[in-house]
Amino acid sequence: MEYYSKQISDLIGELSSLPGIGVKSAQRMAFHILHMPKDRAKSLAEAILSARENVQFCKECFTLTDREICPICASKKRNKKVIMVVEDTRDLVAYEKVGKYEGVYHVLNGTMNPMQGIGPNDIKIKELFERLSKEDVEEVIIATNSTTEGEATAMYITKLIKPSGIKVSRIASGVPVGGDLECIDEVTLLRALEGRQEL
Ligand code: ZN
Repeated sequence: MEYYSKQISDLIGELSSLPGIGVKSAQRMAFHILHMPKDRAKSLAEAILSARENVQFCKECFTLTDREICPICASKKRNKKVIMVVEDTRDLVAYEKVGKYEGVYHVLNGTMNPMQGIGPNDIKIKELFERLSKEDVEEVIIATNSTTEGEATAMYITKLIKPSGIKVSRIASGVPVGGDLECIDEVTLLRALEGRQEL
């Protein structure tokens, strides 16, 4: 038996498919939306559509941006000889908030995860090596999370870069194991960056 009308159950269903949102939270959100003034609900829906429509990968670093080349890659002030490899745009933002890093980034948009069938070709690893072959890069800092997947991805990339003679370093393990980079405070991130070790 359907307790809610179809539109309400559809809305709850869509919301509960989002990461970290269980059915109870989805119900709460759905009812919050249903009680919103109509123009607020409209602007929420439009924000989702417009972000999905206009946000794309930066052609150089593969972060999510609404431009062809993101502001970091486009900046003349950034040192393009140092590339920090991060898992996703949220990690890039975490480092940018620290405000001490002057190099550029490469955003993998995931990590290798054999258990889920995610291999090196499913994330932006090939694109990293294309950059390394075209640009004059002195150091690659690997800043993937210290989860099993993050470490495996770091090892995989290191092995491939080593023969090229480009310096490879890994952020210090001040970052708690299993910790998402974006949740870590700025001091810890800065310490992890400054204490990076050459591999
Ligand atoms: Zn970029």
